[in-house]
Amino acid sequence: MNEVRIDRIEWAPLNGRRAREARGNAYTRSHGQDFLMPIARVTTSDGLMAFGWSRIDRQKADSLVGFSFQDAFHPQRGVSTDYLALDMPLWDLAGKLADRPVYELLSGETNTTALRAPCYDTSLLMDDLDLEDDDEAASLIASEAVKCATRGHRSFKIKIGRGAMHMPVEEGLRRDIRVIKAVREALGAEARILIDANNGYNLNLAKRMLTETADADIYWIEEPFHESWQWNGPFKKWLQQQGLDVLVADGEGVASEQLLTMAENGFIDVVQYDIFGFTDWVVLGPKLDAINIRTAPHNYAGLYGNCAACHLAGGIRRFEMVEWDEASATGLDASVYSIADGHVNVPRLPGFGLQLDPDVFQQAVRDRGFTVSNT
Ligand SMILES: [Mg+2]
Repeated sequence: MNEVRIDRIEWAPLNGRRAREARGNAYTRSHGQDFLMPIARVTTSDGLMAFGWSRIDRQKADSLVGFSFQDAFHPQRGVSTDYLALDMPLWDLAGKLADRPVYELLSGETNTTALRAPCYDTSLLMDDLDLEDDDEAASLIASEAVKCATRGHRSFKIKIGRGAMHMPVEEGLRRDIRVIKAVREALGAEARILIDANNGYNLNLAKRMLTETADADIYWIEEPFHESWQWNGPFKKWLQQQGLDVLVADGEGVASEQLLTMAENGFIDVVQYDIFGFTDWVVLGPKLDAINIRTAPHNYAGLYGNCAACHLAGGIRRFEMVEWDEASATGLDASVYSIADGHVNVPRLPGFGLQLDPDVFQQAVRDRGFTVSNT
């Protein structure tokens, strides 16, 4: 391939909106409905454009512009450290240059059909905190779960930990349990139910929760408490003793440096580092495969992340599920990705296959972003 030079970098946040207001988790009362999705677009000297989620600032963009794609990207290792501020845009560009979807770059295979990536709905937050009555609260979350099922989801994640801050401990735990049981009842036996405490439990509360919901067949418990040798070891041992077949998932946000070692020791089953380190995942995923640890990147407020995460399923054997946060963003067309029967149908299009409306993006760049160019 001839040298490909990046002559222009443009950046702007686009306006994103969730399907409905996302309320609380264990430590916040509302995530709101609107969010900003930062997008960088790169243009090569030949005029080819690619784009992706990026938090690059003007100073960094100024220091990079004019670089050679071949210096920044390696087919096996992905984006080099100095260029990680453009991680996803450069993966998109790699796909466009090769005229292949990113998942094919990762698998090294040419797929004859579109990729189907397993996914779960992540929208069952604590929308019930203003309600006094537990039954009413449980019905509300169950009705939301049913709506998610009509959009094609078969796996559902419920936020728990109401008693960490929003309600007294005992009342919060009682409502968490009631909600889980109501969702199970509404969805039936086939649905996969995940629960996420955002570190709002402790070891004893986690044990109590799983004892009282043993008949709800929970697939994984995520961040029951901040991961530690002191608690995760005994927790896993207890699960085994109880015969509870529940996976322990952890790793989003500020994870312990010991997380991977804990996983290697069998204390954590599913690793959930953020999707926005796409290259990190490309490197880490196969290593986790080799030691039989499951992968499920954390993704929140990231319409772009919904779509990008799917591609990792092409390169990581033990890829569990995409965390799907239903949303739209003005100027970004993701309609080629569709959900059916618990999977995302991933388009067989170059790069990540998403479309950016040039007029909307350029207006956003003028209003609140920047352009740096080499010329
Ligand atoms: Mg989480």
